[in-house]
Amino acid sequence: MRNEKEENVYHVIDLLEKHRTLIRGDFKTLLTVDDKDGEAYLFSRARAITEERFGKDIYIRGLIEFSNYCKQNCLYCGLRRDNQNVERYRLDKEEILECCKEGYALGFRTFVLQSGEDDYYTPQKMIDIIQSIKTNYPDCAITLSIGEKDKETLDLYYRAGGNRYLLRHETITAEHYNALHPKEMQINTRKECLYQLQEIGFQTGCGIMVGSPFQTVDNIINDLYFMADLAPEMIGIGPYLPSQDTPFKNKKAGSLEQTLRLLSLVRLMHPDVLLPATTALATIHPKGREKGILAGANVIMPNLSPLRFRKKYQLYDNKACTGDEAAHCIGCLERRLHSIGYRISRDRGDHIKRRGERIV
Ligand code: SAH
Ligand code: SF4
Repeated sequence: MRNEKEENVYHVIDLLEKHRTLIRGDFKTLLTVDDKDGEAYLFSRARAITEERFGKDIYIRGLIEFSNYCKQNCLYCGLRRDNQNVERYRLDKEEILECCKEGYALGFRTFVLQSGEDDYYTPQKMIDIIQSIKTNYPDCAITLSIGEKDKETLDLYYRAGGNRYLLRHETITAEHYNALHPKEMQINTRKECLYQLQEIGFQTGCGIMVGSPFQTVDNIINDLYFMADLAPEMIGIGPYLPSQDTPFKNKKAGSLEQTLRLLSLVRLMHPDVLLPATTALATIHPKGREKGILAGANVIMPNLSPLRFRKKYQLYDNKACTGDEAAHCIGCLERRLHSIGYRISRDRGDHIKRRGERIV
């Protein structure tokens, strides 16, 4: 027999599925639940909703970490400007195209270009890179994850052929944002950037780190309301993991459980959203990716960066899958997905509302 508190958890999950939002107190109930059966029910509802939309298909994105230089100084990140212990590297256009070539042969139809905020890549250089990828692989989507840019620059990247843009908001609560970033960085700038990305036409992604230093349950609930307002096509949710080369080196990592719960909550609120089981999740638990999928994620982003640079792109310590060839990764992934009844989709995997809209 379930007691009253447990009964309430099931009821609140059903409410969330029906209304796609909750009052603050009910969100709090779900984010603090320590009842395993309630949690299992939450995961199973999120999974059912994902399956209604996407079946057993998991989209893959080839991640190309093309530069680890960064002019920003986010307190949590191993690539921050003040970290003198990173050996910095940059890939040129030919090296990036080499990664795409390998990825294309393995079936990738989305390339994610990610880097620190590196002004070496002027708009002219970025446009050339984007256009060259599009010329060589016109059937592929390009996702950019290169930090904050002004609207004019973003517009140029969209017109050059960029399709999607990932820019996690990290936390929407100003006080919390200020505790994670130096004062030159402001949540309002980031928020504005996200709205501009949408206006320009990018499939847009925001997101947070779960368990980032000083984060409270109320902060997370604010993030859930912000995401409901933004209604992005993609949401990145991964645990915070400490990096030894940052001022937060002694802070605790986020938990697997809270990350999984959030993946499920996000799925219930945004049934169509593209939701990755992140590398950070794979880093805190050997079966993190599988668990993420079983909690409602439907995207995986294997690494296509050249092996010799992988260990140098460390946002946090002990990053998973830094030693494996892309071909090996895809085989491993395929097996892992089969073991839980899922399979890799080699479609471009655009957001449901944006399919076939713009191929070039
Ligand atoms: N410079 C770009 C892209 C690279 S960082 C940007 O900041 O958008 C991409 C994401 O990695 C960040 O948004 C952040 O959420 C995540 N990240 C950075 N440091 C991390 C850490 N220590 N643990 C977990 N995720 C981290
Ligand atoms: Fe740079 Fe992005 Fe890391 Fe911030 S999170 S320091 S912007 S790479």
